[in-house]
Amino acid sequence: MKIALTLTLFITLSAGSFAQTVPRAAASRAGLPPGYWPPEKSRTILDKTQPIRLDPDLSRLSAGERRAVRDLLEVGKIFQSIYEDQRHAEALLSLSALQQLDRRMNSSAATQNLLTLYRLNQGPIASTLENQREPFLPVRAVEPGKNVYPQGATKQEIEAFLATHPDRRDSILDPRSVVRRTSAQNLQRDLSKLRQFPVLDTLHPKLKQELQSLSSERNAKGFYAVPYSVAYADELVCAHGLLNEAADALQKDDEEFARYLRNRARDLLSDDYESGDAAWVTGRFKNLNAQIGSYETYDDELFGVKTFFAFSLLSLRQQETTELRKAMKGLQALEDSLPYEHHKKVREDIPVGVYDVIADFGQARGGNTATILPNESYLARRYGRTILLRSNIMRNPDIFGSASHAWEAVVAPAHKDELTSGGNFYRILWHEVGHYLGVDLTKDGRDLDAALLDASSLLEEMKADLVSLYVGEALSKQGYYTAAQLRELYAGGINRMLQNNKPRRDQPYNTMQLMQWNFFLEKGVLRFDAQTRRLSIRYDKYHEVAGQLLARVLEVQYQGDKAAADSFIEQYTKWDENLHGAIARSIRDQQQYRFRLFKYAALGE
Ligand SMILES: [Zn+2]
Repeated sequence: MKIALTLTLFITLSAGSFAQTVPRAAASRAGLPPGYWPPEKSRTILDKTQPIRLDPDLSRLSAGERRAVRDLLEVGKIFQSIYEDQRHAEALLSLSALQQLDRRMNSSAATQNLLTLYRLNQGPIASTLENQREPFLPVRAVEPGKNVYPQGATKQEIEAFLATHPDRRDSILDPRSVVRRTSAQNLQRDLSKLRQFPVLDTLHPKLKQELQSLSSERNAKGFYAVPYSVAYADELVCAHGLLNEAADALQKDDEEFARYLRNRARDLLSDDYESGDAAWVTGRFKNLNAQIGSYETYDDELFGVKTFFAFSLLSLRQQETTELRKAMKGLQALEDSLPYEHHKKVREDIPVGVYDVIADFGQARGGNTATILPNESYLARRYGRTILLRSNIMRNPDIFGSASHAWEAVVAPAHKDELTSGGNFYRILWHEVGHYLGVDLTKDGRDLDAALLDASSLLEEMKADLVSLYVGEALSKQGYYTAAQLRELYAGGINRMLQNNKPRRDQPYNTMQLMQWNFFLEKGVLRFDAQTRRLSIRYDKYHEVAGQLLARVLEVQYQGDKAAADSFIEQYTKWDENLHGAIARSIRDQQQYRFRLFKYAALGE
């Protein structure tokens, strides 16, 4: 199998000390050196991995658009390597060492398997069949702060530092900064990047002075932070150049998209995304669209605030998009119908689009079915948010086929045909709209992420799920859904709650799905038959119960009380082996595959 490697030439990787840990004799004698998973172990995961290849029709693109696609894919590769580096300090070095080993072993099955595992996991830590995380290369175990906080730094240690240095809280907990330990070596490296790239010095007016004054302090201890543009300076300066070239290529054919790319290129160097986000959300583009930047905080298990790099290149499905926009009228009335007070004013023309994925990189790579961005509430209030529905993933027959087998195995026979790909499409669409509605600031005016920290993503995702289900009844009364479609939406909602493994608390989606599952069991919408080990669904109670849980979520978000959020999560994440475990086993037994490996024709895969 050919592996597309995501390293770009300008990132100079000295194989250095890492490669020296791979002695040649050991490699040829015993197959693999210590710390590398043997083929029998890597195979257990690869046997359960389903390859999915995305190959949308791009024949209508103009010559200029094709040239832009080439430049944009190069930016994607840069983002991929930044993402891997953000997630593990040894990711890029371990990959480089593995590639060397693979060459020495003439692309043996053992090393090729490990390269595939690296691609699948976007780094040297594998998710196992038991939903544990283990290094499969000789690297350190995963750390909650990944590689955007210093190695070994604990939350308490950073909190203690912030308590005595409150002036540094904003920069250290900034969504787009890397936290470092204060040391002469770290400060010198960051200062040298500001000298090497004067544009970064210009765009961050006080940074040089701050770093210099820290360097001149004797025995300065503790932590400081530098913006991503400085931490990943070589990569982002290169991405800036490529985005401008793509913009030039598009200038004649799609001027608004070209303008967005230029704005975003500057954002990457200023770490302030407002201009690019405004151009992105309000622009009307022709055939192409792209998510470019560092947005989602799911990978930060320490404070839940650091964003990780992602890049998606998308091709618009014009006709479906036009139809969908027509159908989405009347959002304010839906906002006003949600079970909470203090309703806000929402924009009614949401820039929703149906797309095919050309290629994904970094945090966006995988089976994501839809995206809504930007996250920051001040940007959403000023410009709105863009919704990107990813049609060639949502409607992929290989992906849907495995979901429906599992469904049939765990529900009572009466419900067997209720899960459809159409119901899923609407559930996902209205999940994304759901992010638009409801609470976006706490009662004392704080952002939800700042108030609820690592509970924030989970609650936000649960809110979006529940809005999608809750507004189904109102939409059906307006004739948007038929009775059958409403039932399919509801079945899709139940299907999403069911888990094939006990979720880890650091998995926000799975955790909030388990919470919904438990709430629906408690309120009698779901009933588990211990004899048949199947679930039956009371649809007549569905709307009311979705509303009760939604009201709880909105209340916790509005109060902004982290302790209350944690106890709410604790209350609904119980896992009973005889119930949840039994369903999870049935799902696993049906699942030929547990992981999906996405390949992209546009990358020559
Ligand atoms: Zn969501």
